[in-house]
Amino acid sequence: MIDLLRTSRRTLAGALVAGAVVYAANFAAGQSPAVAPAALAEGGAVTPVDVDEIVGTPLERALATIRPENIFADLSFIASDEMHGRDTPSPELLIAARYIRARLQRLGFQPGGPLGSYFYEYQLAHSPLAIDRCEATWTATDGTTATLQAGRDYFFASVGDAGDLVTSGDLVFCGYGRRADFPDNARGKWALCVDNGKGRGQRSRTASQAGVAGLITFPAHDYEGESYTERFGGVMSMLERGRVSWPGGREPREIFPSLFMTRERGLALLDAAGRPPGAAEDWMPEQGAELGVNLEERRSLATQGGMATLENVCGFWPGKDPERSKEVVILSAHYDHVGVSGDDIYNGADDNGTGTCGLLALAEALATYGPLDRSVLLIWVSGEEKGLLGSKAWAENPWLPEGCKPVANINIDMIGRNDPTQILYTPTEKLEQYYNDLAQVLERHAASEGFTNLGSADDYYHRSDQASFETLGIPVMFLFADVHEDYHQPSDTVEKIDTDKVARVTRLVLRMLVDIDDEAIER
Ligand SMILES: [Zn+2]
Repeated sequence: MIDLLRTSRRTLAGALVAGAVVYAANFAAGQSPAVAPAALAEGGAVTPVDVDEIVGTPLERALATIRPENIFADLSFIASDEMHGRDTPSPELLIAARYIRARLQRLGFQPGGPLGSYFYEYQLAHSPLAIDRCEATWTATDGTTATLQAGRDYFFASVGDAGDLVTSGDLVFCGYGRRADFPDNARGKWALCVDNGKGRGQRSRTASQAGVAGLITFPAHDYEGESYTERFGGVMSMLERGRVSWPGGREPREIFPSLFMTRERGLALLDAAGRPPGAAEDWMPEQGAELGVNLEERRSLATQGGMATLENVCGFWPGKDPERSKEVVILSAHYDHVGVSGDDIYNGADDNGTGTCGLLALAEALATYGPLDRSVLLIWVSGEEKGLLGSKAWAENPWLPEGCKPVANINIDMIGRNDPTQILYTPTEKLEQYYNDLAQVLERHAASEGFTNLGSADDYYHRSDQASFETLGIPVMFLFADVHEDYHQPSDTVEKIDTDKVARVTRLVLRMLVDIDDEAIER
């Protein structure tokens, strides 16, 4: 589920406290909280079910394979700390994709992507800064020289500072960096300023307007703010991870070089510029003084051309009817989450470990059921938390086996929390322009899986991947168990997940899939 206020997660979390109260009230009303299957909670094994021994219809046999214990086992991998919150992009997202692929291969699914691959690849703009290759070298007229390392000797202060850039020039001392502090002779050169803890953004803007080539700031003797390491640590790690976005967006703005140097390194520059030995702590060169020091700053991106390749994982389950098998129902869940922030790991057990593992359970159920008349594409999309980007990429350039076309989408995202008897869905009748047959199919089967309490998720219609698939002009349905106090928090962890509920939502999707198999699905 994408955060509406992605830049200020914590603000939204605050707004969700009301939801937390409802959640607590449900427990007070006697509903039991989520409990992990006892054996697994202690790391035990599950006794496998021999599906050949299950008596019943193909549907009953398939439903029987969707088990909370199996979902718990998968979820314990997908949402483990070691998966580092499955950020888009990240090494752990690649691992999650390969975990899913292994399951599809074992269950006999066909590759659902181009060129016989289970991966549908797409490109996003991605500009991580190679911090270890960002350096600044200064040389004084007396031949003294030093090379400084970004992240240790100096820092960047803005997430917009990533780029391939070389800036070179002489240093001019410009005091505190107030408007009147930039003399004419500083134009096209580095302005060296001291930081008294006031007006950081202002100083940078003023310097840029004054026409200097760049700004170097270091703490004044009486600076009392946070140390630069602390103050800029968050920005530096964001720069290193890089932002992803839809390619071909607006041109990146021009970077005004602004370096925040440690006091120690700043004083070394003053020494090279002739600071007298034993000078007072607050000694400063004259305003506008040429310091006789030349500095070259180099920074570079970690990616070639600022692009990253991402994967949606696709498993194809061919239908058996000669005609109808060309119609494909898309079952989707996003497998990415929001990664880490400092030492905090955002496990994303509910968002969307539950949908990810629910779809894995559906794969197993389909393998037991055998082919339907229609074909099914299981698709685990990435980039959801960055703006539904993986599903958008697929919808803008769909890939299905020759002659096939998509006819419907059912998407699951965050299906493992809150009232065990409640499930939300969208579009409901109130969302007239999107309303379709799938709502009635859902209503027909919800009670069979214990969902006696159906609610509207219309407010979330545009906040998960069904919104992308809808652009194909097909009927879509989104199943969702609502937000909670752990939404987009490091506390969205496995032990809070009601795996029985995840299993029941998953079974509901299977019932819907089988029910619609022999009828047209209309919008
Ligand atoms: Zn989310």
